[in-house]
Amino acid sequence: MSKPQTHAFQTEISQLLDLMINSLYSQKEIFLRELISNSSDAIDKRRFEALTDASLLNDDEELAVTITTDKDAKTLTISDNGIGMSHDEVIDNIGTIARSGTKKFMQALSDNKDKGDDVSLIGQFGVGFYSVFMVADSVTLVTRKAGGDAAVTWESDGKGEFTIGDTEKDSVGTSITLHLREDESEYLEDFRLKHIINKYSEHISLPIKMLGSVPLDEEGKPQEGVEAEFEAVNKGTALWARPKTEISDEEYQNFYQSLSYDMEPPLSTLHHKVEGNMEYTSLLFIPKKAPFDMWNRENKKGIKLYVRRVFIMDDAEHLMPNYLRFVKGVIDSQDLPLNVSREILQSDRDIQKIKTRAVKRVLDELKRLAKDEPETFQGFWSEFGQVIKEGIVEDMANKDNITPLLRFASTTNDNEAQSVSLDQYVERMQDDQDAIYYITAESYQAAKGSPHLEMFTKKGIEVLLLTDPVDEWLVNSLNEHNEKPLKSVTKGDLELSDEEKKEQEEQKAELSAVTDKLQEVLAESVKEVRLTNRLTESPACLVADETDPGANLERIMKAMGQDAPSSKPILEINPDHAIIKKLDAENASFADWAQVLFDQAALSEGAQIKDPANYVKLVNRLLVA
Ligand code: ADP
Repeated sequence: MSKPQTHAFQTEISQLLDLMINSLYSQKEIFLRELISNSSDAIDKRRFEALTDASLLNDDEELAVTITTDKDAKTLTISDNGIGMSHDEVIDNIGTIARSGTKKFMQALSDNKDKGDDVSLIGQFGVGFYSVFMVADSVTLVTRKAGGDAAVTWESDGKGEFTIGDTEKDSVGTSITLHLREDESEYLEDFRLKHIINKYSEHISLPIKMLGSVPLDEEGKPQEGVEAEFEAVNKGTALWARPKTEISDEEYQNFYQSLSYDMEPPLSTLHHKVEGNMEYTSLLFIPKKAPFDMWNRENKKGIKLYVRRVFIMDDAEHLMPNYLRFVKGVIDSQDLPLNVSREILQSDRDIQKIKTRAVKRVLDELKRLAKDEPETFQGFWSEFGQVIKEGIVEDMANKDNITPLLRFASTTNDNEAQSVSLDQYVERMQDDQDAIYYITAESYQAAKGSPHLEMFTKKGIEVLLLTDPVDEWLVNSLNEHNEKPLKSVTKGDLELSDEEKKEQEEQKAELSAVTDKLQEVLAESVKEVRLTNRLTESPACLVADETDPGANLERIMKAMGQDAPSSKPILEINPDHAIIKKLDAENASFADWAQVLFDQAALSEGAQIKDPANYVKLVNRLLVA
């Protein structure tokens, strides 16, 4: 055997450990939940890999987590006969490579300092193992990977370094021994341990075993010559497999918590057993609050797939579309083959059907909430609205089920809450109004203050204010609602009455010298200069050609690092505005005026201007002229 080696913890992990050791005082008990959850995952993995390589599992071996204590040595040991780890895996998983969640978890802790109990979120960040250092002053991990004889031991006091070396182990799996701190001896007491298991791990569908007591003889003394046996302290049956009527709210909630690490109860719990020619059970939860990693599209976890109680994979992608990635839960099929692979999942028709039904259930529930509990739904929308909007683009088949859920900010409200539905909008439309008007912008302020709204405000026409990046794609996919087209107020021409047309023709003739000159001076920046009756207060605004993407979409695409086809805007001027009336094509400072008008138009819709310093210089020059 080679000599044990000492390694330094990766810097961020060291910082995390320092926190664990020195600063966290509440909810220390969750370390046990984390270890049991790791053991349960490891057992799931072993069972799964044994589906394709039967030698990884002995038929007579019961897969379980075992918890033992030694009061004299003050140690607590959590053992499993899961997949185990190789030497390299131990190094990678524990100590040398920081997970992306390490920093985020520390951030979450410091953000919520006052609340004090957020350490229990740790599992969500993929660094749960380190919570052992809240109660242990040193930890020894011994592990043997299924399929080999080599065993590894890892040891650390959490203070900067760990050692790793070869060892021997009789059986496959991992055993973690905590040398408890002086003041943490409560974790040597059976009743305390059982209480924690009950609280956090009751639903684990594997036995969690502890040493029972020796049966008593007639005199009430432990029977001689009889040894205590290990007994399961949890039910060990999958929660979802039990009848609905026998599951308490608390049990559902605990299970939900184990999937989500969300401290709040879920918004909705959807538990269905489907029988007939395709049998499966689905237990789905809609959370109240968005998880910290909702925007990480790489993270596809959320729905666990089981086949006849055997865990197959945690890969929501095939079971829930991306726009419902916040849904947590379990789907357990009776009919799928156990050796189902990711590739098979993708094309399996039964899986497709299960997915379609699951999506329908979630959308129906959301529709119900929107109708029956509008306030609750509003809370949901403020957390998940942006993600739901992706559904309009992603899931055309469900467009009609998603559209009624959409909520937008609007000029009829005086705040930025997204609370107006398209049906509401259509109901309030003016008699001669034939489109649903919207504006997309970078922020609520920019949308609300945009000069493009001036004429709409004057005419009392409602405009939806769209400021989420996804809105640009949403309006493209949605196109229309109840046969009313969606129309951007910043694009194309406005409908004019005959009278208005006539007036504009006259103004056009009057101002032709000015428009021609503006066009000439701003040729590099604008496609066209024309008159508008869009404006009542501003002298000018920028609009996109009907077929161009528009400034907001170009900005978003650039921010996403994508090539945005740059298109020049059209400068529209307000013929009734004093500045426009004053413009003189022959004036020596005409070029300055032109540039200021153009820059102002961009600024007023919240866009950046190319040369701010020059803008300031020009304005100052005109102010003193
Ligand atoms: P997470 O479990 O969320 O990934 P942890 O910090 O708890 O984060 O564990 C890190 C990794 O160490 C796990 O992903 C797993 O690969 C490995 N690991 C931890 N405990 C065990 C165990 N009992 N058996 C096998 N592997 C384990």
